Amino acid sequence: MAAPRFWREAPSRYNLVATRCGNCGSVSFPPRSFCPKCHRKSVGRMERFRLAGKGSVYTYSVVHEVPSELDMQKPYVIAMIEMDEGAKLTAQVIDVDPKDVHIGMRVRATLRRLGDEGPDGIIHYGYKFVPILN
Ligand SMILES: [Zn+2]
Repeated sequence: MAAPRFWREAPSRYNLVATRCGNCGSVSFPPRSFCPKCHRKSVGRMERFRLAGKGSVYTYSVVHEVPSELDMQKPYVIAMIEMDEGAKLTAQVIDVDPKDVHIGMRVRATLRRLGDEGPDGIIHYGYKFVPILN
């Protein structure tokens, strides 16, 4: 039986581990066993490394509708972040007024509680992004 997607990816999500292709240099997050550009040429040449956690807002959307059972700030911001290493990932941007979010805004990753304790007694953590204040 296959493990749920969340658990298979959990360690790399906690640690911001990405892979860099030894053939073309493109960065993937979450880590991949082969490069989406080079395919077979990249097999055995994917290098794992840890993202530094800083990047810029590439695109974003403000979400106004939140299921009432989720205790979340409303509205909230979901952004695609372009990490300084080149990988793009999607995450919530917090500790900022949605009106102040803009494309190109500098952000850094912070490990936060993602949800409440489930029936299995496990609290889910993951990365969210906060503005880098100058
Ligand atoms: Zn490649």
